[in-house]
Amino acid sequence: MTELHHLGVAELAALLQTKQVSAVEVATRFLARTGGNPHNAFLDIDSEVTLAQARASDAKLAAGTDGPLEGVPVAHKDVFVTKDFCTTAGSKILTGYRSPFDATVVARLRQAGMVTLGKLNCDEFAMGSANENSAFGPVSNPWNTAHVPGGSSGGSAAAVAARLTPAATGTDTGGSIRQPAAFCGITGIKPTYGRASRYGMVAYASSLDQAGPMARSAEDCALLLSAMCGPDLDRDSTSLDVAAEDFSRNLLRPLARAGKDGGPLTIGIPQQWWGGSGEETAWLEGMTPAPSHLQQRETWPSINAALKALVALGAKVVRVDLDKPELAIPVYYIVACAEASSNLSRFDGVKFGHRAADFADLTDMYKKTRAEGFGQEVKRRIMTGAYVLSHGYYDAYYLQAQKIRRMIADDFQSAFASCDVIAGPVAPTTAWKLGDKADDPVASYLADIFTLPASLAGLPCMSLPVGLGEGGMPVGLQLIGNYLQEAKLLNVAHQFQLATDHHKQQAGAAA
Ligand code: GLN
Repeated sequence: MTELHHLGVAELAALLQTKQVSAVEVATRFLARTGGNPHNAFLDIDSEVTLAQARASDAKLAAGTDGPLEGVPVAHKDVFVTKDFCTTAGSKILTGYRSPFDATVVARLRQAGMVTLGKLNCDEFAMGSANENSAFGPVSNPWNTAHVPGGSSGGSAAAVAARLTPAATGTDTGGSIRQPAAFCGITGIKPTYGRASRYGMVAYASSLDQAGPMARSAEDCALLLSAMCGPDLDRDSTSLDVAAEDFSRNLLRPLARAGKDGGPLTIGIPQQWWGGSGEETAWLEGMTPAPSHLQQRETWPSINAALKALVALGAKVVRVDLDKPELAIPVYYIVACAEASSNLSRFDGVKFGHRAADFADLTDMYKKTRAEGFGQEVKRRIMTGAYVLSHGYYDAYYLQAQKIRRMIADDFQSAFASCDVIAGPVAPTTAWKLGDKADDPVASYLADIFTLPASLAGLPCMSLPVGLGEGGMPVGLQLIGNYLQEAKLLNVAHQFQLATDHHKQQAGAAA
């Protein structure tokens, strides 16, 4: 039998349900993999807690009261609060913090039977694109440990790619599920804003934050997503009142019949994201790297080949317009920083985590606690956010950004009039070297150009591996769907994964 750590969620669930392995055996195998904390992916592990959960799963499997994912391990990004593990959100200000309750997403995956392996490293308060903003050190990319894993869910992506866990949770505010999934050669999906409850997710930018699964295949992501989503109206005022659904239901639909009215699936390709000319399918042949500010020379051959593979599977392509893609960057960094400056005001040394040891009075205590507890990038964003919300600048920045945010969302609706899903790159490059952008925050903001628009519009979107670029680093294809169309995205990704084996490629360091 293949070694247990090489199996995905669906395979492990099947072995557990047929009693070919026990939950304790599975948990023990993965806990052994996490020894020495490879890639610095984990921030908290407690084998006693994990094994106790695994024993409870074995009892349920024996009694026939098991959930759909009973005994399958999962690890959580450290922004989900957990009773049984510490939660830091990658920040020194929350060192040693333990929540009195589990986040809804964590509780729902437990209800489905998943066993928690621990908490995963991430950028501080999910702010970053390389996992280099974690107060607990960077995470390395299992494909090449000199490179970043992407961020902010870098620990989640590295842990799945290195086979330390079959699946992980992530959060995506402006790309933090899709971009690390792309950089580490795994599959990840951010559902429609409001699908997964934000209750118990440490808030970064509340109008953008959304939880989602990261795993090795679209099929595995569908299983986790079905367990995570659903209304949580009493606890999250932005939770959608839409019943939980089985996101696996469309996986087997052929692309030739996966479109509107049972016709071929139509894939919209934003023409502003590419160069080249010619009509529709012919344009795919002539497609070139995008204009220089979108610098995707390393990634476009794999993306182009993936689009052609989707056409060979029965999909059609059409060109769509997403005007001025570069506007998403200032709009996002104004809105996200504004919300962050307000959300992070709760970390004041009174209620949670770190408090400065010496202070003269209350104001001094706030100042010293926050100066000591927050990292540089977090401070930068709090200051930017306070500035764009301040009297005199609110109209010039925040209000303008909100207006353009609406225009970006409207652009997507016009595009979806002529296509079922939109496809493009996740990032302009493959994973860069550790340290390369560490001193240049703007360079790292610019690298978010392809993930930010769907986040601003609240649309479901995913990343799936489509090959290797320069230096053998993974490339991800981004699929964006209209609201509540997660099952369609997963259908497209699964059909691609049935026909290709990019998602089965293994990071060198994961053997
Ligand atoms: N890189 C983006 C940022 O730093 C996105 C992060 C995220 O999605 N959490 O804000």
